[in-house]
Amino acid sequence: MESILIVDDDTSIRMVLREELEEVGYTAMAVDSADAALNFIDNDNPIDLILLDLKMPNKDGFYFLEELNRRKKSIKVIVLTGYADIASAIKSAKLGAADFITKPYDLDELIVSIRKVLHM
Ligand SMILES: [Mg+2]
Repeated sequence: MESILIVDDDTSIRMVLREELEEVGYTAMAVDSADAALNFIDNDNPIDLILLDLKMPNKDGFYFLEELNRRKKSIKVIVLTGYADIASAIKSAKLGAADFITKPYDLDELIVSIRKVLHM
């Protein structure tokens, strides 16, 4: 079973998305900050994919992507953001994000993206 880590400061997103992903058969976990996500990865928790919010207090999603790149782990990232501007999409792609989805997300669209990215 594939494992997905949700990184989002929004409590309701973490709760709802985790349930939705579990319902379609993924193992889903959630953390509320970039630092918590990096801790999770540094503790060698097995993760196949990260759903990453961009706007978070203190350290944002771009910081997380830079740190993830430094660690050279082969974890795929889909950015999931309410602030969808072209500059953010381009910066995310440059930092290695495999896809960029806007909130409020359409669940079917998100699942299609997750399947595609996991099998890239
Ligand atoms: Mg946020």
